[in-house]
Amino acid sequence: MPILNRAAELQAEVSDWRRHLHENPEILYDVDDTAAFVAEKLREFGVDEIATGIGRTGVVGIIRGKGATDDRATRTIGLRADMDALPLTEITGKPWASKTPGKMHACGHDGHTSMLLGAAKYLAETRNFNGTVALIFQPAEEGGAGALAMIDDGMMDRFGIDEVYGMHNMPGIPVGQFAIRKGGIMAAPDRFTITIKGRGGHAAQPHRTIDPIFIGAQLVGSLQAIAARNADPVQSVVISVTKFDAGTTHNIIPEKATLLGTVRTLSEDTRDLAENRIRQIVEGLAAAHGAEASIDYYRQCPVTSNHDAETDHAIRIATDVVGAASVDANVDPSMAGEDFAFMLKSRPGAFIFIGNGATAGLHNPAYDFDDEVIPFGISYWVKLVEQRLTD
Ligand SMILES: [Zn+2]
Ligand SMILES: [Zn+2]
Repeated sequence: MPILNRAAELQAEVSDWRRHLHENPEILYDVDDTAAFVAEKLREFGVDEIATGIGRTGVVGIIRGKGATDDRATRTIGLRADMDALPLTEITGKPWASKTPGKMHACGHDGHTSMLLGAAKYLAETRNFNGTVALIFQPAEEGGAGALAMIDDGMMDRFGIDEVYGMHNMPGIPVGQFAIRKGGIMAAPDRFTITIKGRGGHAAQPHRTIDPIFIGAQLVGSLQAIAARNADPVQSVVISVTKFDAGTTHNIIPEKATLLGTVRTLSEDTRDLAENRIRQIVEGLAAAHGAEASIDYYRQCPVTSNHDAETDHAIRIATDVVGAASVDANVDPSMAGEDFAFMLKSRPGAFIFIGNGATAGLHNPAYDFDDEVIPFGISYWVKLVEQRLTD
């Protein structure tokens, strides 16, 4: 398989970086040590520019190819890795396990950051391309909209980024394989908090109360009508009520109930439909029982939607690295969210899954990134740059 020889040579060194980051996880925007580690490595490699503090703690490194000029007349492609970990206590027992209880790299962002650093080292050595690479290391992917923070900080214009590419490891896909699809590959993950205010009283006298538990229980069922009866059956929508808070003891009907949950969709139309119907059902059901209801609906990131032409490039590059039989070009979308979605709204690009083998799932305390993935990831990044930035 045409993994680049140099990428294979780099594996041991990049694994060391990966394990160092794994031992020292940081959360959301508080990735100061990780960002400092990244900037230090980029300095060692001799990249042309290093910008820190983009989107609070993001880092961008710039490498110009042999044919590039300083005035950025040539094309620039952005390669993005995320740096943050999760609030979780690791149970792998590995020698490089997290040293901090309650913090863990359970999504493999340690692997993403290290692979992009490996590619940076290679590209800074060889510069076998005509154009510019922007290496994007972002904070706060896990629910903090770090990608948006970097965009709002002017990253795309400041570095003249024309296209953006992202990569995520995926347990369940064998090491040495890639998977991607055109259009929506990851969902828009929205969340809601519904408060139903009734009238409390004695549990033996329900007729003197407005029972928010009774209304809330119906609501849990009724919301499923959106998936079953409102959304186009060929469009995906997941609505899950994940928390139901009400009451204190056996003989009291409480004043209020609070329901929390999430909505996952793969198109903006279905997303709008789901939000509107949730509002109508909540208000309608509460009104039918004489209760008051309020809903706090929060849209996190958009659908991660791959652009057609850039997805074709990604498929071609992945095929070049591992062969056509090891690239699934029409993988089922994931209903998890990914804030690279903001970058794909801002610039054309593509987000690809790279196999992480038979490990525990993402966000599981037994998960670990597989260091055997490293040469595949580096080869993909390097070939993407060299092939997208040829004359
Ligand atoms: Zn994650
Ligand atoms: Zn992730």
